[in-house]
Amino acid sequence: DVLSAEAVDFGSLLLSGPVLEGLRAAGFQRPSPIQLKAIPLGRCGLDLIVQAKSGTGKTCVFATIALDSLIVENVSTQVLVLAPTREIAVQIHSVITTIGSCLKGLECHVFIGGTPVSQDRARLKRCHIAIGSPGRVKQLVELGFLSTASVRLFVLDEADKLLEEGSFQEQINWIYSSLPPSKQMLALSATYPESLAQHLARYMTDPTFVRLNPTDPSLIGLKQYYRLVRSHPLPHKVFEEKVQHLFELFSKVPFNQALVFSNLHSRAQHLSDILSQKGLPAACISGSLSQDQRLEAMAKLKQYQCRVLISTDLTSRGIDAEKVNLVVNLDVPQDWETYMHRIGRHAHVQAFCYPVPPGLMEEPCDWDVTVENLKMGPTFKALAGAERKKK
Ligand code: ADP
Ligand code: MG
Repeated sequence: DVLSAEAVDFGSLLLSGPVLEGLRAAGFQRPSPIQLKAIPLGRCGLDLIVQAKSGTGKTCVFATIALDSLIVENVSTQVLVLAPTREIAVQIHSVITTIGSCLKGLECHVFIGGTPVSQDRARLKRCHIAIGSPGRVKQLVELGFLSTASVRLFVLDEADKLLEEGSFQEQINWIYSSLPPSKQMLALSATYPESLAQHLARYMTDPTFVRLNPTDPSLIGLKQYYRLVRSHPLPHKVFEEKVQHLFELFSKVPFNQALVFSNLHSRAQHLSDILSQKGLPAACISGSLSQDQRLEAMAKLKQYQCRVLISTDLTSRGIDAEKVNLVVNLDVPQDWETYMHRIGRHAHVQAFCYPVPPGLMEEPCDWDVTVENLKMGPTFKALAGAERKKK
């Protein structure tokens, strides 16, 4: 590949001055490989399906395309982004406002359930870029608060999740049919199952497919281990044994921050309590918490007030927590896609408990062999201290 990511910087993508400045202000110097491929195609106005694993920088792909074509003088809503969870919507907002920090007068807002509609209505009076959950966006269009007449770019982030069976299909269909026929459309996803291809075919007539490595979903840089746990007719006995393994792991592996996935919300909450009692700052996040509680848990992780975040699959996607370097699957996920979403992040060691899906694991683990595989940045203690000083 002649256009290696090392050789090219954002300057050579012929972006508008303010966007280029914004990217630099965000600390992005060189485009990631997927950005290098997708941004120029997107700027040509093509409909794109962008598939690349988690953490490859897909948010910046559509943020850049959206901001580069925005007419700030025109206060109408020109870009509509749908995301499957509130956390992801909030994160997209932060990326767009950062990269857009040099676009004077930019109005970009998040529209998600759990906040008053009246507040949304006021924000929609001036809103260039609307990011939201399908339910709330549909509601706002129905109420006439969100006008889609000027939308030129329609983005589905985490498209596989958005269009999964039983999720948001109906709402997205409805929103799609309210948009002008001439818009550009981008769909971004870490995976590309057949069902997603079929759904997208209804929306996009001749999309350009952008991906990096068609065959290998690539876990490069990750080291995966597992521990076998004895089966037991009583599920809570199995859970107890897993918790013991977890404590051993935490005592042996010098991690910064860890994500622990549990398939059950009740277990997640319970585990969070146990860890906190043992002196490990922990928090729990799952779909059954209120939006405020969920945002608070995410903030705790990012501000180093918590060291372990226990999660159900709600947060397996799209959550960007850069100092997390250990992921533990307390329960094996339902399928390969979920597995990829859970671990395809910044974690350098991936630990696994019971039972092991065939073909996934490298080696059984005597936890202390993992130490050398952990890339260590500043320690959690130092980061938490620095965060306290900032305040
Ligand atoms: P994805 O949506 O593909 O999972 P994200 O958009 O969440 O990935 O990006 C993952 C991380 O990479 C974020 O921390 C983001 O700030 C960082 N990142 C993205 N693009 C760049 C870039 N060009 N240079 C440096 N960091 C980047
Ligand atoms: Mg993403």
